[in-house]
Amino acid sequence: MISLIAFIVALLILVLPLLLQYLSERQSWNNGKCPACGEPWECFDMTSQGDLGYKCKNGHFMWMSYNFEKPHSENKLYKKES
Ligand SMILES: [Zn+2]
Repeated sequence: MISLIAFIVALLILVLPLLLQYLSERQSWNNGKCPACGEPWECFDMTSQGDLGYKCKNGHFMWMSYNFEKPHSENKLYKKES
């Protein structure tokens, strides 16, 4: 029983940062608009890790590791078929 609890705690420690990162990135993405000024995000760069850089007209920018722009085709999180 103790090992099961330890397993769940370890799982939470591993998953929680990813979940928090996902939620904060989703909040920053704001359905494709800059949360600070409401201008649409434009992708300007992609890192070798596949992180996407977005900027708006007013010079705000952010980096995302999830692709919210194409949730049904390219995002591995949403891919149901194996
Ligand atoms: Zn902005």
